[in-house]
Amino acid sequence: MTDKQLNKVRVRFAPSPTGHLHIGTARTALFNYIFIKSQNGKFILRIEDTDLERSDVKWEKEIIEGLKWLGIEWDEFYRQSERFNIYKKYLEKLLDEDKVYYCFCTKEEIEAQKQEQTSIGKPAMYSGKCRSLSKQKISENLKNGQPFTIRFKTPPDIKIVFQDLARKKIEFDSNLISDFIISKGLDNPLYNFVVVIDDYEMEISHIIRGEDHISNTPKQILLQEALGFPTPKYAHLPLILGEDRSKLSKRHGATAVYEYKKMGYLPEALTNFIAFLGWNPGTEREIYNINSLIKEFSLDKIQKGGAIFNIKRLNFLNSFYIRQKPLNKLTELCIPYLIDAQLIVPKSDEGQIIADWGHLPLEMLGYMAMETKEKLSFNYLKQIIGIYQERLRILSEIPELCDYFFKEKLEYDRGLLKWKDMSDSEIAEVLDKLENILSKISTENFNKENLEKILIAEAEAVGDRGKLLWPLRVALCGKKASAGPFEIAEILGKEKTLTRIIEAKRIAKK
Ligand code: GLU
Repeated sequence: MTDKQLNKVRVRFAPSPTGHLHIGTARTALFNYIFIKSQNGKFILRIEDTDLERSDVKWEKEIIEGLKWLGIEWDEFYRQSERFNIYKKYLEKLLDEDKVYYCFCTKEEIEAQKQEQTSIGKPAMYSGKCRSLSKQKISENLKNGQPFTIRFKTPPDIKIVFQDLARKKIEFDSNLISDFIISKGLDNPLYNFVVVIDDYEMEISHIIRGEDHISNTPKQILLQEALGFPTPKYAHLPLILGEDRSKLSKRHGATAVYEYKKMGYLPEALTNFIAFLGWNPGTEREIYNINSLIKEFSLDKIQKGGAIFNIKRLNFLNSFYIRQKPLNKLTELCIPYLIDAQLIVPKSDEGQIIADWGHLPLEMLGYMAMETKEKLSFNYLKQIIGIYQERLRILSEIPELCDYFFKEKLEYDRGLLKWKDMSDSEIAEVLDKLENILSKISTENFNKENLEKILIAEAEAVGDRGKLLWPLRVALCGKKASAGPFEIAEILGKEKTLTRIIEAKRIAKK
């Protein structure tokens, strides 16, 4: 390393904008981020978009949004498509120094060569046919406009060794590395080559990336040596596996960060979860925010074997972070799901529906229940979210849990009103009794504490509490499972609570 580089710790996260931001890619970003923060170094975001056909700015945008959402920030930003002149300069240098060569073999020829190699029991590699083309032949071919690639002259019979910081010594035999292509023509440089140039130009000290890149590392080291560049330190992260121990893929469920965001996973939970995909502090502790990750992280605690993606663990972490949220914030996070489910809609003071609410402070807006046209305040919604804060696993579950607050009439089967072996007449009696008791409680006293006091006493008198409380809860929400009946009744208010009891009497008679 040069003196300049020795003093600096610099990492890069180098995604290719060719698809969604994958959980595995986000993990690479996160590990680079927590490592560099622990070292007080610099984080470089480098968009690897030299493959112009497969790259798209929409993916670049999604990657950037995803990183920001996860709380990953960068100090410097580069786009490879803006750096072609730099790559060309180095390509010309390698050509001048005879470390690379023109190859005019067609796809078909290369395929045939590989077949031939395999038929004699050798690894399927490029034969090296064009390595020895005469200068004259090369200029002739170039003059004729024959398409070409530039291949690296892989030196024979050497061992390429590197010490992986997350693993051990890794060794490759150069005889098993073919003369790989570093550029198609002179203007289309390829991955292994541009990465080496950029890592050098950007003074990268540590390369932390997925295990799938291990086989690229010896090629990159050979290129560094050919160009006289220092070799950075490498750490390769283990593969992420599904529960069946095969490589994580769509088959196992969502793999893109945006999908988790959409389902209502919190960035804190996802970050905490992803950090454990291949890293472990070596203690029982499970909850880590980004700052505690930065404090605890070290590359030598990266595990070698595959990291299993366990959705139950993610759900556990998400519930935890949901419970930690201040209720105002949680309500703001849940409102978009209620709007999407068409249960509520934001409304201006003048009663106009606000269609374009995405950028507005949701706490400041008024709402309307779509079905009943009732006006709802943010505080009312906050009360509803409040009774579900403890049991919410992911935000997208909220509409289904609390839709009954926004409905005119509930639809449920009469059988649902029945607790254990209650008879029809017992159910009818209980509902009458509930109507009777509840109608006597004043509106001012219609709150959880009072309702609980009065109704628990009544329920005790009945003997089996469930005989009173189960039909009450079902009458109020129409569901098998829900929050407790007293808190629901308080939010619904006296009038609606009674309407629902009366409606339950009708359903019970069906
Ligand atoms: N652009 C490469 C990818 O998205 C990563 C390159 C690297 O980390 O060396 O897989």
